[in-house]
Amino acid sequence: MLERKYIFPNVIELNVQAGHLIGCNVYLIHDGEDWTLIDVGYEETVDEVVDLIRDIDFGLSKCATLIATHADVDHCQGLAKLKQILKTTVTSHQRAAELLESGDRLKTFAEIEAQGIHEEMPPVKVERHVSDGDIIKVGKLDLEVWSTPGHADSQLAFRLGNLLFSGDNIYRDGGVGAIDAHHGSDIPAFIESLTRIRDSNVEWLLPSHGPYFRKDKAMINQVIQRLEGYLHLSDFGTCAIDWPLMEQWEREIAEGRLPS
Ligand SMILES: [Zn+2]
Repeated sequence: MLERKYIFPNVIELNVQAGHLIGCNVYLIHDGEDWTLIDVGYEETVDEVVDLIRDIDFGLSKCATLIATHADVDHCQGLAKLKQILKTTVTSHQRAAELLESGDRLKTFAEIEAQGIHEEMPPVKVERHVSDGDIIKVGKLDLEVWSTPGHADSQLAFRLGNLLFSGDNIYRDGGVGAIDAHHGSDIPAFIESLTRIRDSNVEWLLPSHGPYFRKDKAMINQVIQRLEGYLHLSDFGTCAIDWPLMEQWEREIAEGRLPS
C-alpha cells in the first residue's frame, strides 16, 4: 500500500496523490472504508485512477457514488467506464444528467468544431439527481450540495465543513469557468454564485482545476467586478445583458455628433 497523501482530513486529491498532473482534479472523500469521487476526468485516465485508488487501499466495491460537478467532457468522459468497473451509481444535477445520459457532445465541450476538438462522450445513466440543500452521505460525513450556476446551468459545489469543493466557479488565479452562451453560461447567475461563496463561512476552496486555496474575499470581489463589467460589454456576446455603447451611438447619430 502507498502512503495516502491527505490534503485535508478525509480528503485526498488524486493528482496530488499521483505526484503528477493526470487531468482535472479528482477528489476522493472518505469516511473509514466508504468513499466517493468528485469528478473522474477523461476516459483514458480511468485505469490510472483505479490503480491509484487500489494502491492507497480503498476497496473498489466501497464507492458510495461517483459525483459530477457538471457534465463537461474533461470532468465526465470517464464516468461510464469507471462506473462499470466500480459497479456504483452516478450523482449529478438533473440538467447535467440529461447531457450525461444522452452523451451530448456540444454542451459538454466534447465537440468544438471550429477548433478541431472532437471528443467522445460515452452516455452514462445517472441514478441520483441532486439539487441545492441536498445531502450526499459518505459514511457518516455529510456533503452538502450547493447549486452554483454560471459557468454551466448545472454547476454544483459541495460543502464539507469549512471546505467547498467549488467546481469551475473560481480558480486560484482569479479565473472562472469558461463563459460561453452555447454552454448555458449565465453571467448574472455566476455573480450570484460567487457572491454566495464569498459571503459563506467556508474557508478553503477546492476547485476542479489547479491548486486548492484559502478563500479571499478581496480576490472574489475583484472577480465579481470583472464579471459585472462583462454584463455591459460585447466580450461574451449574448451573455451580456445590454450594450450601452449602442445607445450612446444611437444618440450621437440622432444628434449628428460624429467622431472628429
Ligand atoms: Zn472544468
